[in-house]
Amino acid sequence: MSPAIGFRVWRIDEMLTGPRLASPYRYAVWLPGVALKAECKNESGALALANPHRKQPGPTPPIEGCTCGIYAYHEADEMVDAINSGLVGGAVLAWGRLTIHQEGFRGEFARPLALCYAPMFLAGSTASSLARLAHVYSLPVLDSSHLAVFATEFGESYRPAAEQSDDWTGRLATSVRRVLGTWFRG
Ligand SMILES: [Zn+2]
Repeated sequence: MSPAIGFRVWRIDEMLTGPRLASPYRYAVWLPGVALKAECKNESGALALANPHRKQPGPTPPIEGCTCGIYAYHEADEMVDAINSGLVGGAVLAWGRLTIHQEGFRGEFARPLALCYAPMFLAGSTASSLARLAHVYSLPVLDSSHLAVFATEFGESYRPAAEQSDDWTGRLATSVRRVLGTWFRG
């Protein structure tokens, strides 16, 4: 299986040594020059309950039925929609164990490939942080419309075929999910 390409957003974590990319919805800092490895904190609770005194390392994330793993969208457009004033977006490469979902995937290992700017949020401090992040991580900063072509040089998109939703309830469910953006939890 070739590495997967995906698109995601990060929070900017200002540390004494400079800015770092951090996952927006959980505590995970992406260190420069090192692949991030997913950890399972038994978010579902099921595994912990099943064996509270387990000493062996648990199964490799991302685990089916859990929320662990490093998240990325299949499409750059989905990532752009998720950017807001506190976040930056970009492309990632993921490998190891991969769980493919309709909207994106969860991976075991990932590293950033490029950062991008969203024109509406390029004012002031975000623009300056983006330039410093690009320097710290040695990453290019690309226009979001060029990200997908750039990422294709490194891996493969695992986007599944479009959902069959001929009936209106299926279409409604898809559009509601898009509006709420509930899938991305990394
Ligand atoms: Zn888990």
